[in-house]
Amino acid sequence: MIIVPEKEIAGLMTRADAFTAVEQVFASMSNGGAYNFPVIREAIGHEDALYGFKGGFDKTGMALGLKAGGYWPNNLAKHGLINHQSTVFLFDPDTGKVSAMVGGNLLTALRTAAASSVSIKHLARKDAKVMGMVGAGHQATFQLRAALEQRNFEKVIGWNYHPEMLPNIEKVANEAGVPFEAVTLERMVEADVVISITSTFAPSIMAHHIAPGTHIACMGTDTKGKQEVETALLTQATVFTDEVAQSISIGEAQHAIAAGLIKQADVHELGAVINGTHPGRTSDDEITLFDGTGVGLQDLAVAASVVKLAIEKGIAIEVDF
Ligand code: NAD
Repeated sequence: MIIVPEKEIAGLMTRADAFTAVEQVFASMSNGGAYNFPVIREAIGHEDALYGFKGGFDKTGMALGLKAGGYWPNNLAKHGLINHQSTVFLFDPDTGKVSAMVGGNLLTALRTAAASSVSIKHLARKDAKVMGMVGAGHQATFQLRAALEQRNFEKVIGWNYHPEMLPNIEKVANEAGVPFEAVTLERMVEADVVISITSTFAPSIMAHHIAPGTHIACMGTDTKGKQEVETALLTQATVFTDEVAQSISIGEAQHAIAAGLIKQADVHELGAVINGTHPGRTSDDEITLFDGTGVGLQDLAVAASVVKLAIEKGIAIEVDF
């Protein structure tokens, strides 16, 4: 069994590699070459933590396994640890024997940022100039860094429920050479692309905050009960997702579905756009919404890449297990 510790991931996995792995696995999910297992995600009644398992099997890439972990909201304040904690386990698809244990914290951030980036590549208008951020926590910095590579953005505007956190994303914009402005939610209408990545259970983004023609990637809602955007926005947008089953049960679409405002058939796989079986955006006025719920196959894809790279570079720890 190979172990790749968390501290080695930064030196192994690039944003570009994560993007490629995630784009490929979304395409495989859509053509039937890979599938996710149902998600387990529980509020464990301790430290306000959400803990669970996301797994799947990618027959095309021959990756089988799961990510165990979750979200501990008090970690940073109490322990100086990031709020997300996770580990990926890979198994040999031929025998079921465990083959690798890989630190999943940075990989989660990279694969989640890659997912919204893949959605921007395939769904945002080509002439997008203003990038809007709602959220300024740990994931938001990765999201913004990756998104800025997808279009020639000239400006970043940002809003956060806790305004004191905005310098986190301002720093990322400035490092990428793009000016940043803190704005009200009303001014999100100026954005051509919006990413929301918050842990809220009550929507911040109302339908009137999003202008026609915008692409919005809703990345924070990954659990039953969470909600970042008003349900009315989903009726006005063409809705895409990583996986329909997750989108309608634990993703942003869960609320519009439960209220009967949209049907399951209104939620489309991003993989189908990548494969060319769905046209994606069809006009400059269309609002496209990507409901990025986070699938286990994303984790397996990036973890499998990391294991290969760690072996190649001679830094994989081999354990007789
Ligand atoms: P974090 O704790 O570092 O940041 C939380 C963010 O949410 C901050 O911007 C904070 O201001 C905002 N927020 C908190 N309470 C709010 C409220 N009531 N209203 C509006 N905003 C509020 O967390 P993080 O690591 O950046 O993760 C953010 C979210 O992304 C979490 O909900 C996490 O579960 C989710 N996530 C999703 C995926 C995925 O694949 N879709 C992957 C990783 C994380």
